[in-house]
Amino acid sequence: MMIRPAIIIVDMLNDFITGKLEVKRAKNIISPLQRLVVAAHKNEVPVIFGNDAHYPQDIEVTQKWGQHAIKGTHGAEVIPELTPDPTRDYIVEKHTYSAFYETGLDPLLRDLYRGEGAKTVILGGLHTHICVRHTAADAFFRGYHIIVASDGVEAFTAQNHEQGLEYLENVYGAKILTINKIIEDIVKSNTS
Ligand code: ZN
Repeated sequence: MMIRPAIIIVDMLNDFITGKLEVKRAKNIISPLQRLVVAAHKNEVPVIFGNDAHYPQDIEVTQKWGQHAIKGTHGAEVIPELTPDPTRDYIVEKHTYSAFYETGLDPLLRDLYRGEGAKTVILGGLHTHICVRHTAADAFFRGYHIIVASDGVEAFTAQNHEQGLEYLENVYGAKILTINKIIEDIVKSNTS
């Protein structure tokens, strides 16, 4: 059962796929995520992009990863394959790992479905064990049901990815589902 779902796609930005923090494995999830977005649009499921839009002085930049996804640069734009539809998709700019942290994502989710609020968040994007994990943590703290697309998230290594998924399932009760299965459930939740 999928109750009032919203899709959150984390950090599918040029710098993470082809730029400064490029990870080859990230390319694996582009086409599954494209299919997910198409199905979401068809079934009126909201799609939210949670994007790094760093200031050069953000802690994450100065203390950990170096310059990446700097607000206003090409590196901080969503990859062309997944360009948000400005007429219906939402973009939330974030300054650290979680798409919830001081971004306005939670009130946005609560206003969806004519004020009933989204209940289920479906997470895709990068990276399984970092930003997806921290976004899942904040979703859990706020009482959302969590679904993670097993073929819609990736990480630096297979081990990072697999351990990341295991953690999401064990700690936040996330359901780990393939994009095909998620699409099936989205279609069902629309017709019921
Ligand atoms: Zn960042």
